[in-house]
Amino acid sequence: MKYQTFLIKYGEIGLKGRNRFIFEDALVRQIKFALKKVDGKFAVYKSQARIYVDCDGEYDYDETVEALQRVFGIVGICPVVRFAEEGFAALKKEVLSHMQEMYSDKEYTFKVESRRANKSYPLNSMEINRDLGEVILEGMPNMTVDVHHPEVLVNVEVRNEVYLYTQVIEGPGGMPVGTNGSAMLLLSGGIDSPVAGYMIAKRGVSLEATYFHAPPYTSERAKQKVVDLAKIVARSAGPIKLNIVNFTDIQLYIYDKCPHDELTIIMRRYMMRIAEHFAKESGCLGLVTGESIGQVASQTMQSLASTNEVCTLPVYRPLIGFDKRDIVEISEKIDTYETSILPFEDCCTIFVAKHPVTKPKLEVIRKSEEKLAEQIDELVATAIETTEVLNVRP
Ligand code: ATP
Ligand code: MG
Repeated sequence: MKYQTFLIKYGEIGLKGRNRFIFEDALVRQIKFALKKVDGKFAVYKSQARIYVDCDGEYDYDETVEALQRVFGIVGICPVVRFAEEGFAALKKEVLSHMQEMYSDKEYTFKVESRRANKSYPLNSMEINRDLGEVILEGMPNMTVDVHHPEVLVNVEVRNEVYLYTQVIEGPGGMPVGTNGSAMLLLSGGIDSPVAGYMIAKRGVSLEATYFHAPPYTSERAKQKVVDLAKIVARSAGPIKLNIVNFTDIQLYIYDKCPHDELTIIMRRYMMRIAEHFAKESGCLGLVTGESIGQVASQTMQSLASTNEVCTLPVYRPLIGFDKRDIVEISEKIDTYETSILPFEDCCTIFVAKHPVTKPKLEVIRKSEEKLAEQIDELVATAIETTEVLNVRP
């Protein structure tokens, strides 16, 4: 393999200044985690305010790049050719031969940008740029110089070895997971909530998740679908602790006691309460849902106010202003779409009313919930106690 190293470019650093190392260390950790499953031996380290991945021996280039492209915090992945520093004549030869190999297929504009780590090098970086530019122009008639918007930026770094790179493969951006606390995702089998979780994780937040199922009204396969979705999100977000709550008795009880057009709202309020219980238990700093204004009856402004009311933790709704097609687009990009559209019943669809309220009044909903007083606390306690916990890894 001709690339022995990847130079990792990171962009946005939320924790600047003295906290920068926290961001960098988290990024190194996340890169190591992402590369665990890739064939090859890798060393990930920081050096001089940069992060490098050294590849020791044979490795799978495509898999490596793919894994790195899932690490939040990375904006660019530069495959680096390394060779021994043996004087400027040798350097010119190496650079030209690499350029010929990579860029002989058509016309390109280029610019050389060099740095010296070793200031005692006989040429300064201006001189290196100029001389290497000349060598490329002479050896490659298809190349012309464009110092403002070059198609190929030829980066040359002279240290104990020479590092040469010309490609920047786009990374996902965002912040490394683990730099921004953790949040509890209400994860259903739908299209929206996996996308919501992905977006929050992209801001550096580790995820925990809670799924409510209603056996035997919902099947084992519906549950497996949620586990599969968590697995896909975990590729980028890292391991996810998934709480699987048996919600059947609570749903039946609500169905029994409350007006049917309010079922979805009241159910949702209990979901939020239970998810918040687990969130607080494990130190999560917020809840995350896939809600978007007006998407369905339970997501009108009034309905959102009503589900929001029962929580004290902040509820993050990253899709709040998104149209469905925008959400679908992201879900296709992050590979959850195909799983999300598998046709297994959701616990909410089974108990939905034909005409759910779209403008629930808080007082009315609170009043209806009073009808649950006799048993609801016990049912909630049982649901919490019997919750199954899975550690979902990619
Ligand atoms: P999704 O595609 O995420 O299922 P949806 O369009 O089906 O969303 P709703 O069913 O109204 O919308 O759900 C709104 C949000 O409530 C979901 O995005 C999710 O965060 C949460 N939610 C709904 N059902 C469940 C469930 N069974 N378990 C956990 N969370 C749920
Ligand atoms: Mg749903």
